[in-house]
This record gives sequence, structure tokens and C-alpha cells, in this order.
Amino acid sequence: MSTLKFLLRLAWGASVWTLVGCLWVVALARDALGIARGAAAGRRAAARGTVVCERGHATLLWGKFECGSCGFRYTGSALWCPNKECPAPATAFINCSEPSCGLSIPSPSRWGSP
Ligand SMILES: [Zn+2]
Ligand SMILES: [Zn+2]
Repeated sequence: MSTLKFLLRLAWGASVWTLVGCLWVVALARDALGIARGAAAGRRAAARGTVVCERGHATLLWGKFECGSCGFRYTGSALWCPNKECPAPATAFINCSEPSCGLSIPSPSRWGSP
């Protein structure tokens, strides 16, 4: 193998790995941004005391709820199921309190506690 060929091959390999590295960094940054956004949304929702469903109904985070993970019914915070046997550390979703709606709203506390 000539030196030129070897150098070309080296350059090609380096550029491929640089590209892969860049994509990896971009993917990591996107994940970090998503988690940060989720945590910020959780804090905002906790400060407001409500979450809003897809149709725009505000549901209070305090009241009577049924846990989306284990079906436990309780009064308290919509985000934390008091059932000790519950497999979820935090409620995965909340159902809209509007009787005609009932859509599920993803829990804003999924990433970071409020
Ligand atoms: Zn609704
Ligand atoms: Zn539960």
C-alpha cells in the first residue's frame, strides 16, 4: 500500500468517525433538552396547580384521582399515588376531570419531581 493511499484511508476513517461522533452528540443534546423541557413543564404545572388536556380543559392536580398505573383511588396530589404497592414512582398520566372528555394527560412530573 502506498503512503498516499494509506493517508487517504486514514482521512476517510477519521471523517466517518467525526460524523458519527457529531450525530451522537446531537442525539444526546436533544435528549437532554427534552428532559429539561419536561422538568420545566412539571414545575410550571405544579406552580399552576393544573394540567391542561388536549382539548384545553384544566384539570386540578389536587383532588380525587384514580392512579393510571395501578387503579388505586385516592384524594391528594394527582402526581403521586399513595398506594405502597404501586409499581410507578409517579403517576404516569392523569385523566381529564371534564366528565364529557376524560382524555388522559401525560403526567408533567415524569421527568423530575415538581
Ligand atoms: Zn379534557
Ligand atoms: Zn398507583
